Amino acid sequence: MSCYKGKYADELIANATYIGTPGKGILAADESTGTIGKRLSSINVENVESNRRALRELLFCTPGALQYLSGIILFEETLYQKTADGKLFVDVMKEANVLPGIKVDKGTVELAGTNGETTTQGLDGLAQRCAKYYEAGARFAKWRAVLKIGPNEPSQLAINENANGLARYAIICQENGLVPIVEPEILVDGPHDINKCADVTERVLAACYKALNDHHVLLEGTLLKPNMVTPGSDSNKVAPQVVAEYTVRALQRTMPAAVPAVVFLSGGQSEEEATVHLNAINQYQGKKPWSLTFSFGRALQQSTLKAWGGKEENVNKAQEAFLTRCKANSEATLGKYQGGAAVEGATESLHVKDYKY
Ligand code: 13P
Repeated sequence: MSCYKGKYADELIANATYIGTPGKGILAADESTGTIGKRLSSINVENVESNRRALRELLFCTPGALQYLSGIILFEETLYQKTADGKLFVDVMKEANVLPGIKVDKGTVELAGTNGETTTQGLDGLAQRCAKYYEAGARFAKWRAVLKIGPNEPSQLAINENANGLARYAIICQENGLVPIVEPEILVDGPHDINKCADVTERVLAACYKALNDHHVLLEGTLLKPNMVTPGSDSNKVAPQVVAEYTVRALQRTMPAAVPAVVFLSGGQSEEEATVHLNAINQYQGKKPWSLTFSFGRALQQSTLKAWGGKEENVNKAQEAFLTRCKANSEATLGKYQGGAAVEGATESLHVKDYKY
């Protein structure tokens, strides 16, 4: 059987390729209502619709920032929200050539009989939701599968279950015109070294691409959102060049050249660390048939959130912080980041154990 050749095939390939344009990347602003609540409470701001909207407006309307972005991932609520002046956020993005994306998974549940491993929910009714989101302007989607590293983890059950879920999600998205971001996040939690992370990342990615092929997914119309290959959070750090070497090698061994781009998650790295690693990955000399860019959540928003503090009078300062990070990451996709964006808060670790999105 051949892969998806339906009516959206050309559009999917064009959009996936566009998202991977060197110099641009994705802002992941799709925190669920619960997760954004934790962010807002860290700056003593109440988790109500008006405050969530205000934060998203601050980000999306930062003068000059959207030139560094090719996509923004939204939570369902935000897809239908407007600026204070009454313009749909989706239209703000379209005018700046930024594709709107949408989180379509419904979070994780535990797999019975495992040591706290999970699978991701949300396949029921997914086709209908994708069609509705396409109508509203979304052109790509995200589904986060989560794996963890432990003495016996990830189990083969968790690898298979998550790979299959991602593949089912991916083909349903394509049938409804959305480019699926395939995100098998291996959590950084633990004392393991970089070799262990590389080994697990290679096993997980190999299983994902087997499942995507089995499900007839059009690889040219997908994106991969993996973790970078790093030592665990309770292990000693290694140089950015080592992270780059291990990360690119894991991708070379498992990721088909048909996929146009890799959009890394930041996974609890500090803003500056994520940028420096992305830069080293792009400087690394070796076979890299995909563009290598960012789809950061925490690592694009932390210093902005802090500078804002929920106060109108801080909006300009917060937007400056956001612009700084967008520009730095844009340079890192070209391997041209020279440092200098490590302003207040940018070097702080953003690691949260067992992180939920
Ligand atoms: P982080 O960059 O904060 O890890 O989040 C990206 C994301 O979208 C996770 O699903």
